[in-house]
Amino acid sequence: LVQAFTRLPGVGEKTALRFTLQLLGDQRAALEALSHALAEAAAHLRPCDSCGNIAEIGPDGSAVCGICADARRDQSQLCVVAKVQDLMAVERSGAMRGRYFVLGRLLSPLDGVGAEELPLAQLERQIVANGVQELVIATPPSVEGEATALHLAREFGRRVRVTRIASGIPHGGDLEFADPITLGRAMSGRRGLDA
Ligand SMILES: [Zn+2]
Repeated sequence: LVQAFTRLPGVGEKTALRFTLQLLGDQRAALEALSHALAEAAAHLRPCDSCGNIAEIGPDGSAVCGICADARRDQSQLCVVAKVQDLMAVERSGAMRGRYFVLGRLLSPLDGVGAEELPLAQLERQIVANGVQELVIATPPSVEGEATALHLAREFGRRVRVTRIASGIPHGGDLEFADPITLGRAMSGRRGLDA
């Protein structure tokens, strides 16, 4: 059990041992609940066959998430994100009416993650299958996120419109405390005000 816990991100051996001893000690109910939830998840959930979001496995063995199954979503827009948490964040904003594609990783030459490790063939299949016209790149504003966005633009920019989410000062934020890169981006991304 300790070994299994240490496979989770951010969990070291000490924490894993603490979890294990608590579960085996006076947290018996939590142990049963965890065991049940894990078995259910393993049996019924896996990444969506189309987008990589978490999906329920259907009777035919396929997995289609709620967003991909929703016929009211705009098929012509595909929002590319790094991870499922980012998909959930964009979805909470209510600003995306199209579908998503989860990359699962970002380009990171220093860590040995090159373009061949990105699921580009799968992304291309989604673009073709759904008649996508706009690829909305919502990777994070980091070195890796920007490198990935550029690579996707080079790869798909000739066939579809590739857009990048804006970056700038967060809502309720203070200009005084913004870092120079963020403030610079906010300045260069300025828009006309409709009065
Ligand atoms: Zn999906």
